[in-house]
Amino acid sequence: MTQLDGLTRERMSEQLELLMTKYRDIQSQGLQLDMSRGKPCAEQLDLSNGMMDVLTSRDNFKLQDGSDSRNYGGVDGIPEAKELFSQMLGVSPKEMIIGGNSSLNMMHDTLARAMLFGVLGSDVPWSKLPKVRFLCPSPGYDRHFAICELLGIEMIPVDMLQDGPDMDAVEHLVRNDESIKGIWCVPKYSNPEGITFSDAVVDRFANMETKAPDFRIMWDDAYTVHHLTDEPDGLKNILEACTAAGNPDRVFIYSSTSKVTFPGSGVAVMAASEANIGFIRKQLSAQTIGPDKQNQLRHVRLLRNMDGIEQHMKKHAAIIKPKFDTVLRMLESELGQLNIASWSKPNGGYFISLNTPDGCAKAVVNMAAAAGVVLTKAGATYPYGNDPRDRNIRIAPTFPPMGELEKAIEVLCLCLQIVSIKQLLQG
Ligand code: PMP
Repeated sequence: MTQLDGLTRERMSEQLELLMTKYRDIQSQGLQLDMSRGKPCAEQLDLSNGMMDVLTSRDNFKLQDGSDSRNYGGVDGIPEAKELFSQMLGVSPKEMIIGGNSSLNMMHDTLARAMLFGVLGSDVPWSKLPKVRFLCPSPGYDRHFAICELLGIEMIPVDMLQDGPDMDAVEHLVRNDESIKGIWCVPKYSNPEGITFSDAVVDRFANMETKAPDFRIMWDDAYTVHHLTDEPDGLKNILEACTAAGNPDRVFIYSSTSKVTFPGSGVAVMAASEANIGFIRKQLSAQTIGPDKQNQLRHVRLLRNMDGIEQHMKKHAAIIKPKFDTVLRMLESELGQLNIASWSKPNGGYFISLNTPDGCAKAVVNMAAAAGVVLTKAGATYPYGNDPRDRNIRIAPTFPPMGELEKAIEVLCLCLQIVSIKQLLQG
């Protein structure tokens, strides 16, 4: 098919009828495919089954510091895990807290504590201020936005460009508005666009002038080792950059092994300046006597060192790269000529971001759902679920088996063509 907008109305109507016949046929097949969340597939989970064997009842449970991993203690995690994950994030073990099973949980708790008590350097708890606002580079991760919504933090969308957030806009906003206390970032293989921030963007974050003295960057490095190619994207070290710029306390870094080992029973980590970590550790010690150290030890035994993590992630890539390739190949062959959509071609992470013509995303997602293909809700990638151009759709290719993935993308492309033609005919 040629570019849709080059067709006469008659040809468009004919084409629409053909596509609708195909759609009705698919609808009658009773598909039940779920592509809504970025989850590893069973084969990926199998890669970490060794976790069950690395700690047995005959094991030595003694930790590096002489303590017993089976007992209470160590509010900020075991030394072995600090050593391992400090390498992953390029920080010192002293700049780390090793937490429980979810980095999202740590991010939520960080902001909940900020509302209750403020952060290091705050004059008052954030919740005592007339307004607290956060910048939200969009499209972004819906669960970040959900935390802000829950805590009553007002969200301001900022455009994502090819090398990170629109820093002109970010710098202007934070320089002039004291109520802006922070920003969400997924700096590597971003969710959903797969963008890695350039060195220049990292430097601008570290150096920018902020009206709020206790401004924080929520640096969610969830996909830091999740490469899809042998030439991984590089990300400049934000903690080093902030320290060099004289703003060492500006950034909170997060990551987890949710998509390295087992989502929901992995290990979550946080990194920041020693001063920030000391401040948070004190608060944490009122909340818990300590995290699940056995799980941390299992992770250290399974992954061993940075080389172990990298080898493990190569096995993940071998499983999921063909799925990304399949989606990209199908989008190209089904939509490439039509001039109605554009999509990301990520070097890592868990998503492909698809942009439809303005005003079409919701209709496409609804139509796919009516044919049994569940996609991430349209709008979810924007604060308050409001995509101002109603065009972004997040594709999560990892979970479904290849056959189901192909079927789902076929349906998605079909729905996109139908909705686009209908829009052209109405226009
Ligand atoms: N951050 C990002 C950017 C994510 O995409 C996800 C998972 N979808 C998470 C955090 C969740 O991480 P965790 O399982 O450690 O809570």
